[in-house]
Amino acid sequence: MAFRATDVIACATFLLLTGAGLASSAERASTRAPAPGHYPVANDTRVGGDDALTRFVMDFSRKVELRAFTLADPYRVVIDLPQVVFDLPAKTGETGRGLVKAFRFGLVMQGGSRIVLDVSKPVRIDKAFVLDATAGQPARLVLDLAATDRDSFMRALAPSSPPPQTTTGGLDRSPAQKGDPRPIVVLDPGHGGIDNGTVAPTGVMEKALVLEFALLLRDRLEKSGKYRVVMTRTDDTFIPLIDRVRMARIRQAALFISIHADALAKGEGEAQGATVYTLSETASDAEAARLAENENRADVIAGIDLSHEPGDVADILIDLAQRETKAFSTHFAKTLVADMRRVARMHKHPMKSAGFKVLKAPDVPSVLIELGYVSSKADLKQLMSGAWQAKTAGAVGQAVDNFFSTRIAGGQARQSGR
Ligand code: ZN
Repeated sequence: MAFRATDVIACATFLLLTGAGLASSAERASTRAPAPGHYPVANDTRVGGDDALTRFVMDFSRKVELRAFTLADPYRVVIDLPQVVFDLPAKTGETGRGLVKAFRFGLVMQGGSRIVLDVSKPVRIDKAFVLDATAGQPARLVLDLAATDRDSFMRALAPSSPPPQTTTGGLDRSPAQKGDPRPIVVLDPGHGGIDNGTVAPTGVMEKALVLEFALLLRDRLEKSGKYRVVMTRTDDTFIPLIDRVRMARIRQAALFISIHADALAKGEGEAQGATVYTLSETASDAEAARLAENENRADVIAGIDLSHEPGDVADILIDLAQRETKAFSTHFAKTLVADMRRVARMHKHPMKSAGFKVLKAPDVPSVLIELGYVSSKADLKQLMSGAWQAKTAGAVGQAVDNFFSTRIAGGQARQSGR
Protein backbone atom coordinates (compact mmCIF):
# COMPACT_ATOMS: atom_id res chain seq x y z
CA MET A 1 0.00 0.00 0.00
CA ALA A 2 1.17 3.46 -0.79
CA PHE A 3 0.55 4.88 2.67
CA ARG A 4 0.69 3.70 6.21
CA ALA A 5 -2.06 1.24 6.88
CA THR A 6 -2.18 2.08 10.57
CA ASP A 7 -5.51 3.75 10.70
CA VAL A 8 -7.28 3.11 7.51
CA ILE A 9 -10.80 2.11 8.30
CA ALA A 10 -11.82 -1.19 6.76
CA CYS A 11 -14.81 0.11 4.90
CA ALA A 12 -15.54 0.38 1.23
CA THR A 13 -14.72 4.06 1.13
CA PHE A 14 -11.21 3.53 2.26
CA LEU A 15 -10.56 0.50 0.16
CA LEU A 16 -11.36 2.75 -2.75
CA LEU A 17 -8.88 5.31 -1.49
CA THR A 18 -5.92 3.01 -1.54
CA GLY A 19 -5.88 2.74 -5.30
CA ALA A 20 -4.45 6.17 -5.92
CA GLY A 21 -1.16 7.70 -4.89
CA LEU A 22 -0.91 10.54 -2.42
CA ALA A 23 -1.19 14.04 -3.74
CA SER A 24 1.84 15.67 -2.18
CA SER A 25 1.39 19.16 -3.56
CA ALA A 26 -1.45 21.50 -4.32
CA GLU A 27 -0.86 21.21 -8.03
CA ARG A 28 -0.94 17.46 -8.20
CA ALA A 29 -4.46 17.20 -6.92
CA SER A 30 -5.98 19.39 -9.61
CA THR A 31 -8.52 17.83 -11.93
CA ARG A 32 -6.01 18.19 -14.72
CA ALA A 33 -3.47 15.99 -13.03
CA PRO A 34 -1.99 13.48 -15.42
CA ALA A 35 -3.40 10.00 -15.02
CA PRO A 36 -2.28 6.66 -16.30
CA GLY A 37 -2.62 6.64 -20.07
CA HIS A 38 -5.28 3.99 -20.16
CA TYR A 39 -8.11 6.31 -19.13
CA PRO A 40 -10.24 7.97 -21.82
CA VAL A 41 -9.60 11.73 -22.01
CA ALA A 42 -12.33 14.37 -22.20
CA ASN A 43 -10.87 17.28 -24.14
CA ASP A 44 -13.68 19.56 -25.25
CA THR A 45 -17.21 20.46 -24.26
CA ARG A 46 -20.08 22.52 -25.72
CA VAL A 47 -23.56 23.55 -24.61
CA GLY A 48 -26.10 24.73 -27.15
CA GLY A 49 -29.81 25.44 -27.41
CA ASP A 50 -32.33 27.43 -25.41
CA ASP A 51 -34.73 27.29 -22.45
CA ALA A 52 -36.86 24.61 -24.12
CA LEU A 53 -34.21 22.27 -25.53
CA THR A 54 -30.55 22.15 -24.59
CA ARG A 55 -27.79 19.91 -25.91
CA PHE A 56 -24.67 19.14 -23.85
CA VAL A 57 -21.70 17.62 -25.70
CA MET A 58 -18.34 16.37 -24.41
CA ASP A 59 -15.59 15.05 -26.70
CA PHE A 60 -13.59 12.00 -25.66
CA SER A 61 -10.45 10.30 -26.93
CA ARG A 62 -12.50 7.12 -27.19
CA LYS A 63 -15.97 5.81 -26.51
CA VAL A 64 -17.17 5.54 -22.88
CA GLU A 65 -20.23 4.01 -21.24
CA LEU A 66 -22.60 6.40 -19.50
CA ARG A 67 -25.53 6.42 -17.11
CA ALA A 68 -27.61 9.59 -16.82
CA PHE A 69 -30.27 10.42 -14.25
CA THR A 70 -31.92 13.41 -12.59
CA LEU A 71 -31.98 14.62 -8.99
CA ALA A 72 -34.39 17.05 -7.33
CA ASP A 73 -34.01 19.96 -4.91
CA PRO A 74 -31.96 21.42 -6.40
CA TYR A 75 -32.66 20.23 -9.94
CA ARG A 76 -29.61 18.43 -11.31
CA VAL A 77 -28.68 16.01 -14.06
CA VAL A 78 -25.93 13.50 -13.25
CA ILE A 79 -23.87 11.63 -15.81
CA ASP A 80 -21.85 8.74 -14.40
CA LEU A 81 -18.87 7.50 -16.39
CA PRO A 82 -16.02 5.10 -15.84
CA GLN A 83 -12.89 6.91 -14.65
CA VAL A 84 -11.82 9.44 -17.24
CA VAL A 85 -9.28 12.27 -17.37
CA PHE A 86 -10.86 15.71 -17.75
CA ASP A 87 -8.35 17.71 -19.78
CA LEU A 88 -10.44 20.87 -20.00
CA PRO A 89 -9.56 24.54 -19.57
CA ALA A 90 -9.92 26.18 -16.15
CA LYS A 91 -13.36 27.73 -15.63
CA THR A 92 -15.03 25.15 -17.89
CA GLY A 93 -18.60 24.75 -16.70
CA GLU A 94 -18.73 27.90 -14.60
CA THR A 95 -21.39 29.25 -16.93
CA GLY A 96 -23.89 27.36 -19.05
CA ARG A 97 -26.52 27.99 -21.63
CA GLY A 98 -30.21 27.26 -22.11
CA LEU A 99 -31.41 24.91 -19.38
CA VAL A 100 -27.88 24.29 -18.09
CA LYS A 101 -26.84 26.93 -15.54
CA ALA A 102 -23.40 25.47 -14.84
CA PHE A 103 -21.70 22.10 -14.64
CA ARG A 104 -18.87 20.32 -12.81
CA PHE A 105 -16.91 17.17 -13.39
CA GLY A 106 -14.39 15.02 -11.60
CA LEU A 107 -13.68 11.81 -9.79
CA VAL A 108 -16.31 10.58 -7.33
CA MET A 109 -14.54 7.34 -6.49
CA GLN A 110 -11.68 5.28 -7.80
CA GLY A 111 -12.87 3.95 -11.14
CA GLY A 112 -15.78 6.38 -11.42
CA SER A 113 -16.03 9.91 -12.81
CA ARG A 114 -19.09 12.11 -12.84
CA ILE A 115 -20.49 15.18 -14.54
CA VAL A 116 -23.12 17.14 -12.61
CA LEU A 117 -25.22 19.72 -14.44
CA ASP A 118 -27.18 22.33 -12.49
CA VAL A 119 -30.36 22.98 -14.42
CA SER A 120 -32.55 26.06 -14.16
CA LYS A 121 -35.88 24.20 -14.06
CA PRO A 122 -37.34 20.69 -14.21
CA VAL A 123 -35.98 18.81 -17.23
CA ARG A 124 -36.49 15.50 -19.00
CA ILE A 125 -33.50 13.58 -20.34
CA ASP A 126 -34.54 13.30 -23.94
CA LYS A 127 -31.44 11.49 -25.20
CA ALA A 128 -28.18 10.37 -23.64
CA PHE A 129 -25.70 8.47 -25.79
CA VAL A 130 -22.07 8.26 -26.88
CA LEU A 131 -21.08 8.30 -30.54
CA ASP A 132 -18.09 6.32 -31.78
CA ALA A 133 -15.22 8.28 -33.21
CA THR A 134 -15.56 8.54 -36.96
CA ALA A 135 -13.26 9.95 -39.59
CA GLY A 136 -12.07 13.31 -38.32
CA GLN A 137 -14.58 13.36 -35.40
CA PRO A 138 -13.77 12.38 -31.82
CA ALA A 139 -16.02 10.15 -29.75
CA ARG A 140 -18.81 12.34 -28.39
CA LEU A 141 -21.09 12.19 -25.38
CA VAL A 142 -24.42 13.80 -26.23
CA LEU A 143 -27.11 14.69 -23.70
CA ASP A 144 -30.36 16.31 -24.83
CA LEU A 145 -32.51 17.97 -22.18
CA ALA A 146 -36.08 19.18 -22.64
CA ALA A 147 -37.93 21.49 -20.26
CA THR A 148 -40.78 19.83 -18.37
CA ASP A 149 -42.99 20.55 -15.34
CA ARG A 150 -42.21 19.62 -11.74
CA ASP A 151 -44.79 16.82 -11.54
CA SER A 152 -43.38 15.01 -14.56
CA PHE A 153 -39.87 15.57 -13.27
CA MET A 154 -40.70 14.07 -9.86
CA ARG A 155 -42.45 11.09 -11.46
CA ALA A 156 -39.37 10.38 -13.56
CA LEU A 157 -37.14 10.21 -10.48
CA ALA A 158 -36.59 7.08 -8.39
CA PRO A 159 -37.45 4.29 -7.85
CA SER A 160 -36.07 3.51 -11.30
CA SER A 161 -33.11 5.81 -10.87
CA PRO A 162 -30.16 3.94 -9.37
CA PRO A 163 -28.50 4.97 -6.14
CA PRO A 164 -25.89 7.53 -7.15
CA GLN A 165 -23.40 6.78 -4.41
CA THR A 166 -21.85 3.60 -3.17
CA THR A 167 -19.56 5.07 -0.58
CA THR A 168 -22.21 5.28 2.14
CA GLY A 169 -22.10 1.48 2.43
CA GLY A 170 -19.45 -0.46 4.28
CA LEU A 171 -20.71 0.29 7.75
CA ASP A 172 -19.00 -2.64 9.37
CA ARG A 173 -17.70 -1.46 12.67
CA SER A 174 -13.98 -1.85 12.89
CA PRO A 175 -13.30 -0.99 16.48
CA ALA A 176 -9.92 0.18 17.57
CA GLN A 177 -7.15 -2.33 17.84
CA LYS A 178 -7.78 -4.05 21.13
CA GLY A 179 -5.43 -3.05 23.87
CA ASP A 180 -4.51 0.27 22.33
CA PRO A 181 -6.00 2.83 24.71
CA ARG A 182 -4.81 5.91 22.84
CA PRO A 183 -7.59 8.27 21.80
CA ILE A 184 -8.52 8.41 18.13
CA VAL A 185 -8.27 11.77 16.40
CA VAL A 186 -10.04 12.04 13.05
CA LEU A 187 -8.60 14.55 10.58
CA ASP A 188 -11.00 15.59 7.85
CA PRO A 189 -9.54 17.45 4.88
CA GLY A 190 -12.58 19.06 3.22
CA HIS A 191 -13.86 18.44 -0.31
CA GLY A 192 -12.00 16.23 -2.84
CA GLY A 193 -12.59 14.68 -6.22
CA ILE A 194 -15.38 16.38 -8.11
CA ASP A 195 -15.74 18.95 -5.31
CA ASN A 196 -12.81 21.40 -5.52
CA GLY A 197 -13.92 23.61 -2.65
CA THR A 198 -12.84 27.22 -2.97
CA VAL A 199 -10.44 28.16 -5.76
CA ALA A 200 -7.79 30.88 -5.53
CA PRO A 201 -7.39 33.42 -8.35
CA THR A 202 -4.18 31.52 -9.13
CA GLY A 203 -6.14 28.29 -9.68
CA VAL A 204 -4.94 26.63 -6.45
CA MET A 205 -7.74 24.56 -4.98
CA GLU A 206 -8.89 24.29 -1.37
CA LYS A 207 -9.15 20.49 -1.64
CA ALA A 208 -5.42 20.22 -2.36
CA LEU A 209 -4.28 22.79 0.21
CA VAL A 210 -6.24 21.27 3.06
CA LEU A 211 -5.12 17.73 2.22
CA GLU A 212 -1.50 18.81 2.33
CA PHE A 213 -2.06 20.48 5.70
CA ALA A 214 -3.96 17.51 7.13
CA LEU A 215 -1.16 15.11 6.15
CA LEU A 216 1.37 17.33 7.95
CA LEU A 217 -0.85 17.45 11.01
CA ARG A 218 -1.26 13.68 10.91
CA ASP A 219 2.52 13.27 10.94
CA ARG A 220 2.82 15.72 13.83
CA LEU A 221 0.19 13.87 15.91
CA GLU A 222 1.52 10.41 15.10
CA LYS A 223 5.06 11.41 15.97
CA SER A 224 3.93 12.25 19.50
CA GLY A 225 2.86 8.64 19.91
CA LYS A 226 -0.15 9.75 21.96
CA TYR A 227 -2.91 9.29 19.41
CA ARG A 228 -4.20 7.08 16.68
CA VAL A 229 -4.99 9.25 13.69
CA VAL A 230 -7.71 8.45 11.15
CA MET A 231 -7.95 10.43 7.93
CA THR A 232 -11.31 10.76 6.16
CA ARG A 233 -9.36 10.92 2.92
CA THR A 234 -5.69 10.69 1.97
CA ASP A 235 -6.04 11.48 -1.72
CA ASP A 236 -8.14 13.44 -4.19
CA THR A 237 -11.35 11.46 -3.69
CA PHE A 238 -14.84 12.75 -2.98
CA ILE A 239 -16.30 11.66 0.40
CA PRO A 240 -19.93 12.56 1.24
CA LEU A 241 -20.36 14.65 4.39
CA ILE A 242 -22.40 11.99 6.15
CA ASP A 243 -19.59 9.44 5.63
CA ARG A 244 -17.07 11.77 7.23
CA VAL A 245 -19.24 12.02 10.34
CA ARG A 246 -19.88 8.29 10.25
CA MET A 247 -16.16 7.46 10.18
CA ALA A 248 -15.67 9.41 13.41
CA ARG A 249 -18.64 7.75 15.09
CA ILE A 250 -17.77 4.21 14.01
CA ARG A 251 -14.27 4.58 15.38
CA GLN A 252 -15.61 6.19 18.55
CA ALA A 253 -13.23 9.05 17.96
CA ALA A 254 -12.29 11.36 20.81
CA LEU A 255 -11.86 14.37 18.53
CA PHE A 256 -12.83 15.35 14.98
CA ILE A 257 -11.03 18.17 13.16
CA SER A 258 -12.31 19.28 9.77
CA ILE A 259 -9.88 21.41 7.76
CA HIS A 260 -10.89 23.99 5.16
CA ALA A 261 -9.87 27.24 3.48
CA ASP A 262 -12.45 29.92 2.83
CA ALA A 263 -12.81 32.47 0.03
CA LEU A 264 -14.72 35.67 -0.46
CA ALA A 265 -16.11 36.60 -3.85
CA LYS A 266 -14.90 39.81 -5.45
CA GLY A 267 -16.53 42.82 -3.80
CA GLU A 268 -17.37 40.92 -0.60
CA GLY A 269 -14.52 42.53 1.29
CA GLU A 270 -11.01 41.61 2.30
CA ALA A 271 -11.27 39.26 5.27
CA GLN A 272 -8.10 37.54 6.39
CA GLY A 273 -6.89 35.01 8.88
CA ALA A 274 -7.91 31.70 10.38
CA THR A 275 -11.25 30.98 12.06
CA VAL A 276 -12.37 28.07 14.25
CA TYR A 277 -16.00 26.94 13.98
CA THR A 278 -18.16 24.79 16.21
CA LEU A 279 -21.70 23.50 15.67
CA SER A 280 -24.72 25.59 16.58
CA GLU A 281 -28.34 25.69 15.50
CA THR A 282 -28.23 29.38 14.76
CA ALA A 283 -25.18 30.91 13.15
CA SER A 284 -23.14 33.30 15.26
CA ASP A 285 -23.19 35.88 12.45
CA ALA A 286 -24.03 36.31 8.78
CA GLU A 287 -20.60 35.30 7.61
CA ALA A 288 -20.74 32.05 9.57
CA ALA A 289 -24.17 31.33 8.05
CA ARG A 290 -22.86 31.94 4.53
CA LEU A 291 -19.87 29.71 5.15
CA ALA A 292 -21.90 26.81 6.58
CA GLU A 293 -24.23 27.00 3.61
CA ASN A 294 -21.26 26.81 1.23
CA GLU A 295 -19.59 23.96 3.08
CA ASN A 296 -22.85 22.02 3.34
CA ARG A 297 -23.22 22.22 -0.45
CA ALA A 298 -20.49 19.61 -0.97
CA ASP A 299 -23.00 16.80 -1.48
CA VAL A 300 -25.12 18.87 -3.87
CA ILE A 301 -22.00 19.64 -5.87
CA ALA A 302 -21.14 15.97 -6.19
CA GLY A 303 -24.63 14.99 -7.34
CA ILE A 304 -25.74 13.09 -4.25
CA ASP A 305 -29.43 12.46 -3.76
CA LEU A 306 -30.35 14.23 -0.55
CA SER A 307 -34.03 13.33 -0.64
CA HIS A 308 -33.48 10.16 1.42
CA GLU A 309 -31.34 11.83 4.03
CA PRO A 310 -32.81 11.51 7.49
CA GLY A 311 -33.91 14.78 9.03
CA ASP A 312 -32.39 16.05 12.22
CA VAL A 313 -32.94 13.53 14.94
CA ALA A 314 -34.98 15.02 17.74
CA ASP A 315 -33.98 12.46 20.29
CA ILE A 316 -33.58 13.56 23.87
CA LEU A 317 -30.68 11.18 24.47
CA ILE A 318 -28.87 12.48 21.47
CA ASP A 319 -29.60 15.94 22.72
CA LEU A 320 -28.06 15.18 26.09
CA ALA A 321 -24.96 13.64 24.56
CA GLN A 322 -24.76 16.58 22.25
CA ARG A 323 -24.78 19.07 25.09
CA GLU A 324 -21.82 17.37 26.70
CA THR A 325 -20.06 17.06 23.37
CA LYS A 326 -20.74 20.68 22.67
CA ALA A 327 -18.95 21.77 25.82
CA PHE A 328 -15.89 19.74 24.81
CA SER A 329 -16.01 21.15 21.28
CA THR A 330 -16.12 24.70 22.58
CA HIS A 331 -13.32 24.01 25.03
CA PHE A 332 -11.15 22.62 22.23
CA ALA A 333 -12.01 25.54 19.92
CA LYS A 334 -10.81 27.99 22.60
CA THR A 335 -7.58 26.06 23.10
CA LEU A 336 -7.10 25.97 19.35
CA VAL A 337 -7.53 29.71 18.91
CA ALA A 338 -5.07 30.40 21.73
CA ASP A 339 -2.41 28.07 20.31
CA MET A 340 -2.87 29.03 16.67
CA ARG A 341 -2.72 32.73 17.52
CA ARG A 342 0.95 32.34 18.46
CA VAL A 343 1.99 31.43 14.93
CA ALA A 344 -0.81 32.30 12.50
CA ARG A 345 -2.81 35.38 11.73
CA MET A 346 -6.34 34.91 13.06
CA HIS A 347 -9.58 36.39 11.80
CA LYS A 348 -10.74 39.39 13.82
CA HIS A 349 -13.52 37.20 15.24
CA PRO A 350 -11.70 33.87 15.35
CA MET A 351 -14.36 31.76 17.11
CA LYS A 352 -17.73 31.29 15.45
CA SER A 353 -20.49 28.73 15.16
CA ALA A 354 -23.06 27.60 12.58
CA GLY A 355 -24.94 24.54 11.34
CA PHE A 356 -22.15 22.59 9.65
CA LYS A 357 -23.32 19.09 8.67
CA VAL A 358 -19.85 17.68 9.13
CA LEU A 359 -19.80 18.68 12.81
CA LYS A 360 -22.99 16.81 13.69
CA ALA A 361 -21.70 13.66 15.37
CA PRO A 362 -23.59 13.82 18.69
CA ASP A 363 -20.88 11.97 20.60
CA VAL A 364 -17.62 13.26 19.10
CA PRO A 365 -16.25 16.72 19.99
CA SER A 366 -15.85 18.37 16.60
CA VAL A 367 -14.44 21.60 15.19
CA LEU A 368 -13.92 23.00 11.72
CA ILE A 369 -10.85 25.11 11.02
CA GLU A 370 -10.81 27.59 8.15
CA LEU A 371 -7.08 28.08 7.75
CA GLY A 372 -7.50 31.37 5.91
CA TYR A 373 -8.91 32.88 2.74
CA VAL A 374 -7.59 31.72 -0.62
CA SER A 375 -9.08 34.95 -1.99
CA SER A 376 -6.61 36.99 0.10
CA LYS A 377 -3.16 37.34 -1.44
CA ALA A 378 -1.44 37.44 1.94
CA ASP A 379 -3.36 34.42 3.28
CA LEU A 380 -2.77 32.40 0.13
CA LYS A 381 0.96 33.06 0.31
CA GLN A 382 0.97 31.64 3.84
CA LEU A 383 -1.26 28.70 2.99
CA MET A 384 1.16 27.73 0.22
CA SER A 385 4.26 28.17 2.38
CA GLY A 386 5.80 24.98 3.76
CA ALA A 387 7.17 26.88 6.76
CA TRP A 388 3.77 28.35 7.64
CA GLN A 389 2.08 24.98 7.21
CA ALA A 390 4.61 23.29 9.49
CA LYS A 391 4.37 25.82 12.31
CA THR A 392 0.57 26.01 12.10
CA ALA A 393 0.26 22.22 12.11
CA GLY A 394 2.57 22.32 15.14
CA ALA A 395 0.23 24.78 16.88
CA VAL A 396 -2.85 22.66 16.15
CA GLY A 397 -0.95 19.63 17.44
CA GLN A 398 -0.11 21.58 20.61
CA ALA A 399 -3.81 22.39 21.05
CA VAL A 400 -4.68 18.70 20.71
CA ASP A 401 -2.07 17.90 23.39
CA ASN A 402 -3.53 20.58 25.68
CA PHE A 403 -7.08 19.37 25.09
CA PHE A 404 -6.32 15.80 26.10
CA SER A 405 -4.07 16.69 29.02
CA THR A 406 -6.71 18.93 30.61
CA ARG A 407 -9.35 16.30 30.01
CA ILE A 408 -7.30 13.66 31.74
CA ALA A 409 -6.60 16.05 34.62
CA GLY A 410 -10.33 16.64 34.93
CA GLY A 411 -11.08 12.93 35.01
CA GLN A 412 -12.86 13.08 31.69
CA ALA A 413 -10.44 11.11 29.57
CA ARG A 414 -12.01 9.24 26.69
CA GLN A 415 -15.44 10.36 27.60
CA SER A 416 -16.55 9.91 24.03
CA GLY A 417 -15.82 6.20 23.92
CA ARG A 418 -19.41 5.09 23.96
ZN1 ZN B 1 -14.32 24.04 2.53
